[in-house]
Amino acid sequence: MKRLKLLALFLFSALALQVSAQQKKYVMVIHGGAGTILKRNMSPEKEAAYIAALTKALNAGYAEIKAGKSSLDAVEATIHVLENDPHFNAGKGAVFTHDGKNELDAAIMDGKTLMAGSVAGVTTIKNPISAARAVMEKSEHVMMVGAGADQFAKEAGLEIVDPKYFWTKERWDGLQQAIKEDSTKAVLDHGSKKSELFGSKNHDYKFGTVGCVALDKAGNLAAGTSTGGMTNKKYGRVGDAPIIGAGTYCNNETAGISCTGWGEFYVRNVVAKTISDLMEYKGLSVAEASKIALDKVGKMGGDGGLIALDKKGNMTMPFNTEGMYRGAITADGKIEVSIYK
Ligand code: ASP
Repeated sequence: MKRLKLLALFLFSALALQVSAQQKKYVMVIHGGAGTILKRNMSPEKEAAYIAALTKALNAGYAEIKAGKSSLDAVEATIHVLENDPHFNAGKGAVFTHDGKNELDAAIMDGKTLMAGSVAGVTTIKNPISAARAVMEKSEHVMMVGAGADQFAKEAGLEIVDPKYFWTKERWDGLQQAIKEDSTKAVLDHGSKKSELFGSKNHDYKFGTVGCVALDKAGNLAAGTSTGGMTNKKYGRVGDAPIIGAGTYCNNETAGISCTGWGEFYVRNVVAKTISDLMEYKGLSVAEASKIALDKVGKMGGDGGLIALDKKGNMTMPFNTEGMYRGAITADGKIEVSIYK
C-alpha cells in the first residue's frame, strides 16, 4: 500500500513537472513602440498610465477572442484602444512631420487568406487600422495612400476627423526639439544622413508605434500595425508599418509579425516576411527567426523591436533598444505587460 502511494506521488509530480515545462499558449501579443525608454526618465504616473493602456488594449482584444470573434476583430479592437490613447504614436498621439503635419500609416493582414490592406500618409482618418482593413475587405487593392486613402475611408463610412484632432502638445514639443537638435547636430557632424533624416539617435520621441498579433479560437492569426511614423520625417515619407512584409506580415503556416523601430531599416531588410520565410523554408522557431531578422537590422545600424506569435501560441518580443512597451495574454486570460529590458 505504501509503495503504491509512493508510486502515485511520483507519477503525480512527474506529470506536474511536465505540465509546467510546457510552453504557455498565448493568444495575443502587442507592442506600443520600442525606443530609448529608461526607468530613470519615467515618472511613476506615466509608467502606470502606459501599463494601464497596454492592459486595456489586451483586454479589448481578448474579449473579442473569448467571444469567438476573428483574430482580425481582435487586432482591430486592440489597436483602436492604442490609437485613441495619446501616449502612443498612432492615431491621436501621432508624431509630426518636419512640416508640422500628422501623416499616418497602418496595415493589417489575415494569416488564413494572406489578404492584406494598408494605408499610408493619411491625415483625416481617426483609426487608420480600420482603413487598412477596409482596403483589404472592400477594395481589390492592398495599399492606398494620401488623399485617395482618406477619401476611400470616408466612403467606407469610417470616422473622419479634422487633422487638428491629431495635435498633441507632447508631440509638438518633440518636433521642436528634434528640429533644434537636428540643426545643432548638422553643424557638429556636417549633416550625416541620420541627422538629416530624424535628428540624433537615442530619442524616445522617435518611436511609439503600436502593433498587435492575435490568434483566434479557430486557429487563425492576424497582425496589424499603426503609426504616425518618425518625428521630423519629411513630407510623404512612408515607413515600414504599412508595407506588407516589412513592418507587418501574417501567415497561419508561420506567424503573425508586427515591427517597430527605425522604419527604413525594416523596409530594406523586409523584416516581417524574412521571419516568416525563415520559419517556412528553414523550419526555425518563431523566436529563432525573429532574432536573426532583428540582429540584421542591428548590424546595419537600425534599432527597434518586434512582436511575433505563431499558430501554436508561441510568442517572442525581441528588441535592441533600451525598452519596448509590450504585452501578451494567454489563452486563459493571464496578462503580462513590460516596458524595460
Ligand atoms: N517603424 C515606424 C516608422 O518607421 C516607427 C516606429 O516604429 O516607431 O515609421
